[in-house]
Amino acid sequence: MIVVLKTEATKPQIDHAIERVQELGFEPRVITGAFRTIIALIGDDNSPGVEKLDAIPGVEHVHRILKPFKLASREFHKEDTIVPIGKVRIGGGHLAMIAGPCAVESFAGLDQIAGFVKKAGANILRGGAFKPRTSPYAFQGMGEDGLKILRDVGDKHDMPVVTEVMDTRQVALVAKWADMFQIGARNMQNFDLLKEVGQARKPVLLKRGMSATVKDLLMSAEYVLAEGNPWVVLCERGVRSFEDSTRNTLDLSAIPNVKGQSHLPIIADPSHATGRPDLIPSMAMAAVAAKADGVHIEVHDCPEKALSDGPQALLPDQYASLMADLRKLAELLGRTIDR
Ligand code: PEP
Ligand code: MN
Repeated sequence: MIVVLKTEATKPQIDHAIERVQELGFEPRVITGAFRTIIALIGDDNSPGVEKLDAIPGVEHVHRILKPFKLASREFHKEDTIVPIGKVRIGGGHLAMIAGPCAVESFAGLDQIAGFVKKAGANILRGGAFKPRTSPYAFQGMGEDGLKILRDVGDKHDMPVVTEVMDTRQVALVAKWADMFQIGARNMQNFDLLKEVGQARKPVLLKRGMSATVKDLLMSAEYVLAEGNPWVVLCERGVRSFEDSTRNTLDLSAIPNVKGQSHLPIIADPSHATGRPDLIPSMAMAAVAAKADGVHIEVHDCPEKALSDGPQALLPDQYASLMADLRKLAELLGRTIDR
């Protein structure tokens, strides 16, 4: 539910309205716009007394949001949200070019890859330190040592860094070293984890679960927003389908679909979506053409030796050539790539 105040509502009236919604058992989220104030009500829309909200002095109208997600919805917030991560902005015409290896493997290895992707035009460095592997015997990531390497390499190349957090117990540690949390596809509905990153004041890259609907994805974003963290970037990374010649099936329509329903930025990850370097460039271009707010791409200088996801990594040269095309497309569409 949203309480829209009159343009001429006074400060005491606004304060009074906030007090009243609290008395009715809601948690108020106040948005102060240039012309008017809006109060979003977190709580049960059917609780007793809501019909009296209209009568509060200074209130213009009360709007019931029919969608199950509220803070994430465009009804609640008309303008695109722009998420800041260091000096890079994501959303509202600013593209995130996230690149790096699947996993942090060593300082020298990451340093080399970061040098390549930065030169090619990437503006955020990625690398997993905690890896969600299908097999418990596969490389699980370097843990805290990997986080420190990611931080040092990011600083050296002047790039903000994003890395996956898999468990509530890792949130403080990851927050210490990274600029942005990644919630992986397998954890999209780990609600305790979503609440925990919602309490940390750092941007969250929320990947779509492989069997999650667009509505499920937006409901998961709502968990983070409801804790007070407004900085959520969604990521379409492919869903499971009957097709088995690609790793997953990139749901390109999810991008404009989400944009119609939500103000949150959404990027695409053609690496995990296709699992195939021959398809990644076209799908990255298609995603940006479909109004994605960026792309997330795995790059490795020696895929055959990569400790995870080697077969889907682009070589540095392939990434540079894709970035040259993406830059042209961005220019054509009037988008900027912050550096
Ligand atoms: C990753 O980004 O390396 C990853 C594991 O992605 P996803 O959660 O989308 O599978
Ligand atoms: Mn990966």
